[in-house]
Amino acid sequence: MKKNILGRTGIEVTVLSIGTLTMSPMQRGLSVEEGAEVILHALSSGINFIDTAQMYGSYLQVKFALRKWMGSDPVIASKSAVKDYDQMEEAISQCLDQLHRKKIDVFLMHAVRDKEDFELRAGALEALVKAREKGLIGALGASSHSARVIDLLAENDVIDVLHPMFNRDGIGILDASLTKMTSFLKKAKAADKGIYAMKPLGGGHLRQDAAAALRWVFDSDCIDSASVGMTTFEEIDMNVAVAMKETVERSFAEKVAGQPRKLFINEMICQNCGACIKACQQMALKPGEKAPIVDHLKCILCGYCAPECPKFAIRII
Ligand code: SF4
Ligand code: SF4
Repeated sequence: MKKNILGRTGIEVTVLSIGTLTMSPMQRGLSVEEGAEVILHALSSGINFIDTAQMYGSYLQVKFALRKWMGSDPVIASKSAVKDYDQMEEAISQCLDQLHRKKIDVFLMHAVRDKEDFELRAGALEALVKAREKGLIGALGASSHSARVIDLLAENDVIDVLHPMFNRDGIGILDASLTKMTSFLKKAKAADKGIYAMKPLGGGHLRQDAAAALRWVFDSDCIDSASVGMTTFEEIDMNVAVAMKETVERSFAEKVAGQPRKLFINEMICQNCGACIKACQQMALKPGEKAPIVDHLKCILCGYCAPECPKFAIRII
């Protein structure tokens, strides 16, 4: 599979990376062993880049896969949404411990909402810089749904890697058009930032046309890699075929597309506290009589709302 250098980091990544949100307890909830088998299949198929996060709860799945994997070390990226220095130091330490690694290749601030949010995370960023100096992480950066944040960070010398929302239909991109995001990414690339795309299939909205949508991202000339959440061998086989520029049979693509998934809020246990509404950057939740109402056209299944729920009332089914 084609590999690219992740900007100025010098880290070589395959154009397709495996995201672990969908297999995590936040979404499909594969067991540790099942998740590890999926990751191992991805590695055996030529993928060398694994994306995880403190929020996902998928570290154990990654650790089990790494323990069994006999090939060369894959590149690992993780992220944390914490804001201050001590919390970020703790997040990096937790990741190193749980993955049994001496170094995490890439560590990001997770889901930076806007300029103000970035400024509030000054402590977290300082901890990342220190960790990079100490060699605990290889590179640092941020993930964001916001095109303006991506533009802001592209101009920041400290940042090595960006993980932007990016897909053919512009689904989930906040505060600017797809055209604007594309131009910001090209500018970031010219500034030698490493870029790997988030949600190239629009959080499942493009799954019926997944092969074409993924091909569009690979051909965009803006990214070094694209991270796709995958939970089955078939999904991996199809996405690897696209990454290798092979033809994907329509019947196979239809089989892989499978059933749509959606966010479900259990009204029986919801306290209607509204915390999930505040956490949703996509404005996909609005107040309801017994529980928030989900706008499934806007929901991209990012999962940011679920950890905010004190009653564990939010599920993806
Ligand atoms: S409702 Fe939840 S999963 Fe859907 S977009 Fe909002 S935060 Fe993400
Ligand atoms: S955070 Fe949980 S309890 Fe609060 S409104 Fe949302 S679903 Fe209900």
